[in-house]
Amino acid sequence: MTARIVVLGGGVGGTLVSNLLARKLSRSAAEITVVDATGRHIYQPGWLYVPFGLEKPENLVKRERSLLSRKVRLVVDRVVKIDADARRVVLAEGAPLEYDYLVVAAGARLAPEAVPGYEEAAHNFYNAENALRLRAALYGFGGGTVVVGVADIPYKCPPAPLEFTFMLEDYLKQRGLRDRTKIVYLSPLNRVFTIETVSQMVTPLLEERGVEYRLFFNTESIDPVAKVVRSMEGEEEQYDLLVLVPPHRGAPVVVESGLGDQQGWLPTDRETLQVKGRPEIYALGDATDLPVSKSGSAAHFQAKVVADRIADAVHGKQPAAKYDGHVLCFLETGYGQATQLAFDYEHPPQPPRPSRFYHYEKMLFNRTYWYIVPRGIV
Ligand SMILES: Cc1cc2nc3c(=O)[nH]c(=O)nc-3n(C[C@H](O)[C@H](O)[C@H](O)COP(=O)(O)OP(=O)(O)OC[C@H]3O[C@@H](n4cnc5c(N)ncnc54)[C@H](O)[C@@H]3O)c2cc1C
Repeated sequence: MTARIVVLGGGVGGTLVSNLLARKLSRSAAEITVVDATGRHIYQPGWLYVPFGLEKPENLVKRERSLLSRKVRLVVDRVVKIDADARRVVLAEGAPLEYDYLVVAAGARLAPEAVPGYEEAAHNFYNAENALRLRAALYGFGGGTVVVGVADIPYKCPPAPLEFTFMLEDYLKQRGLRDRTKIVYLSPLNRVFTIETVSQMVTPLLEERGVEYRLFFNTESIDPVAKVVRSMEGEEEQYDLLVLVPPHRGAPVVVESGLGDQQGWLPTDRETLQVKGRPEIYALGDATDLPVSKSGSAAHFQAKVVADRIADAVHGKQPAAKYDGHVLCFLETGYGQATQLAFDYEHPPQPPRPSRFYHYEKMLFNRTYWYIVPRGIV
C-alpha cells in the first residue's frame, strides 16, 4: 500500500523533510504532498541585513517548486483545518487531502496587535515590508534615542535583535551619528539573552559599545504620541526610533484546528517530534512548543529526524531516530565579526570570541542556503 504523506508548509522545515522523504522512499512506497499557502519559499535570516542596505528582499525568495524533488507534489493552497480524527486536511480551495502521516511545518505568526500602539509606532525587520520600512526610517534618522527590544518570548531567532543592535551601533558610527545617538536594549528576562552562557559573552560587548540595557522589561504598551514604550513592571523608555520584535503566536491553522496550546504552539514530544496524543502527526520548526530556539537551524535538524522516523515506519520498521535539541547558528556582533552558537538539550552554547571567520561563515551560509539546505545536502 502506498503511504500518503502530507507536509503542511513549504518553509525550511517542510521543504527539507519532503526532499529527504523523497530520497528515502520510492514512488510506490509513498506519495508525498507539500501544501503551501504562497508557493514561495522565503529565506528569513536575510531580512536582518535589509534595514542596513546590505540585502534586497527579492534575493530572499524563490519559487517553492524549484526547491522540491520531482517526486514531491506541490499544492499551492491554504490549509484551513487539520481534521486529526478523520486524518485529512481541509483546503481553502482544493479538495481535502487524506493522510497516513502529516508533518506540520506551518511556522509562527507575528502578533503585533498584542501590544497596544505597536502598529502605529514600532518598527521591526521580521518581514520584507517591515524591513524596508525600517530601512527608510534609518536613512532618515539624524540622531536621538533608538530603543531596540523584544516584546515577548518566544520569538523567532533569539539572536536577531542583539545582532541588529550590534550592527546598528556599527552603522551609526559609519554614518557619523553615533555620538548623537543613545541606544537602549530592552530584554523581558533577567539577562540580555535567553541562554546564560551567551548573555555572559554579549553583555560586556554591549557595555563596550556604549549600549544601555534594561532587564525585566516586558512591553505592555506603546504611546505613539508621547513616543514612550511602557513595561508591565511600570517602567517607561522614551524613544525617537523604536525597533521591537513583536509577540509571536502559533500558526492560525493550528489554533483553528484546536491542536495548539494557549499561544497556539503544537504540543510536541521533544525527542520523537510527534504531536502529543497524535502519533501519526509530526511537528517541526517554529510551529512546535519545543524548548529550543525557533530557528531555521532547529527546523533543519528536526526535519532529518522526522524523515528518518516516517521512512522507517513506512518500511515497517520501528522508528528509532530522536531529536537531541541540536541547534547551530551565528550571532553577528558588528564590525564584520560574529560568533557561533552550537548547543543541544543537555549542552548550552559556549560561544567563541567574535571573529571575522564566523561572520564570513554566516555570509557563506546565507549565499549557499538555497543549494544546500532545502535540498538536504547538509
Ligand atoms: C529576521 C530573522 C532572522 C532570522 N535569522 C535566523 C538565523 O540566522 N538562523 C536561523 O536558524 N534562523 C533564523 N531565523 C528563523 C527562521 O527563519 C525560522 O525559524 C524558520 O524559517 C522556521 O522554519 P519553519 O519551516 O518552521 O517555518 P517557515 O519557514 O516560517 O515556513 C512556514 C511555511 O508554512 C506555510 N504555511 C503557514 N500556514 C499555512 C497554511 N495554513 N496553509 C498552507 N501553508 C501554510 C507558510 O506559507 C510558510 O511557507 C530568522 C528569522 C527572522 C525573522
